[in-house]
Amino acid sequence: MYPIRLFINGEWRDGSGGETIDIVNPATGGVVGTVAVATRADLDDALACAEKAFSEWSGTSAFDRYKLLRKAADLLRARTEDVARLITIEQGKPLGEARLEIGLAIDVIDWCAEEARRTYGRVIPARLSKVRQVLLHEPVGPVAAFTPWNFPVSQLARKLGAALAAGCSIIAKASEETPASAAAIFQIFADAGLPAGVANLVFGVPADISGYLVPHPVIRKISFTGSVPVGKHLAGLAGSHMKPATMELGGHAPVFVFDDTDVEKTAATMTMSKFRNAGQVCVSPTRFLVQDGIYDEFVERFVAGAKAIRIGNGLDADTVMGPVVSERRLTAIDALVQDAADKGARVLTGGRRHSNQGSFYEPTVLADLSTEMRIMNEEPFGPLALICRFSDIEEAISEANRLPYGLASYAFSRSQKRVDALMQNVKAGMMTVNHLGIGQPETHFGGVRDSGYGSEGGPEAVEAYLVSKFVTIDPTA
Ligand code: NAD
Repeated sequence: MYPIRLFINGEWRDGSGGETIDIVNPATGGVVGTVAVATRADLDDALACAEKAFSEWSGTSAFDRYKLLRKAADLLRARTEDVARLITIEQGKPLGEARLEIGLAIDVIDWCAEEARRTYGRVIPARLSKVRQVLLHEPVGPVAAFTPWNFPVSQLARKLGAALAAGCSIIAKASEETPASAAAIFQIFADAGLPAGVANLVFGVPADISGYLVPHPVIRKISFTGSVPVGKHLAGLAGSHMKPATMELGGHAPVFVFDDTDVEKTAATMTMSKFRNAGQVCVSPTRFLVQDGIYDEFVERFVAGAKAIRIGNGLDADTVMGPVVSERRLTAIDALVQDAADKGARVLTGGRRHSNQGSFYEPTVLADLSTEMRIMNEEPFGPLALICRFSDIEEAISEANRLPYGLASYAFSRSQKRVDALMQNVKAGMMTVNHLGIGQPETHFGGVRDSGYGSEGGPEAVEAYLVSKFVTIDPTA
């Protein structure tokens, strides 16, 4: 992997301090490249470019922005194999999943392109017939965006696509753990003809970069995807400088499995969903709340599914689950499992690292859980499934709402009455019933409560980068 550099003012450059961070392949533990560290001077350059480029880009017609985004989506489509390989090498997910992630990113960019042409304002009938009243939507200004390592391309596409569609310039800090695939996306936008300085990419010490960019007067909007504690910190910083923010944070998704569902099909669907990207997904199903009548059968089928998962290097064609992203995450996951086991949880399968090379953790299923265990309260963000038994729906809803999170929720039942009760009472930003339907570009994507605010899907994804201006005119004066 070539050295990954900063992208400022349309050029790739080293950090002015000369420092770099190693990029590690989590499947081997080996160093596969380096990424440049931005200094304060580099950030100042990026800010100056983003400010200058904003006046040009915000003046570009919506139709021209649409055409450029469509071109970038086409280029990404053509480069899918190369970018997928980068994702797998630096992040670990199987190549097939990496291709799917790129497919989503392409869809997102296409959606944002189309939405660029629909940032309609309004004409408001005035109280005096001679007066004209309009509401205009304008790009909010230069954006600071922070993207994580679990979906290094599609998470970036959500922020970059929406900001550019709205007419904003952007400085993105992508994850230092997965910089190569992020860099490939910036090269694609440059090749599509994006003017220099409109989109800038930096890496470095995350807290230093956000601590400088978020309060900086040039930056007018913050978007962050990551953990709840960091999100709360950045939201506070943004709030104290009166800057709007989109916060896409963690969750601890409940899965309601009622006794009137097709157990075989549900267990198969959820095994696949749980262990996708080794569970490192913000909407990953986590607390499986399974009704008495089918509990034993569900557990048996789910555990059999987990045991059958083929673990390996994501570059191997028959791998179903790759490593977790780093030793840091592996240690954190294992600590949660050990805490649960010490407090009486039953490890039905997994519960330990797999192989001494790379950061592989076995697909793990736990039962006999209690709310004193850390794992029942903290987002596991790994290949861990927690299976709990319930008898009546009130009990299940109460457990689902016990935690302060509110991102995704899942339900399986043929009863409209039960589904309706869940729709009305579960505190979550998204709910998918009897199938897996969360995450398309055209649908809402966001949480409530500690899981954050704002949406990175649907028309709201682009609206988040716009401000409103009301104008009233007496043309006869
Ligand atoms: P972390 O909180 O250290 O980092 C998460 C992400 O935020 C990383 O990309 C990191 O570079 C960035 N980050 C950290 N501190 C920052 C700061 N002060 N300013 C700006 N960016 C900052 O956690 P981690 O160990 O990398 O990942 C584990 C946790 O992160 C998980 O429990 C999960 O909740 C969360 N996470 C969530 C998502 C998501 O899709 N919502 C994605 C990745 C990680």
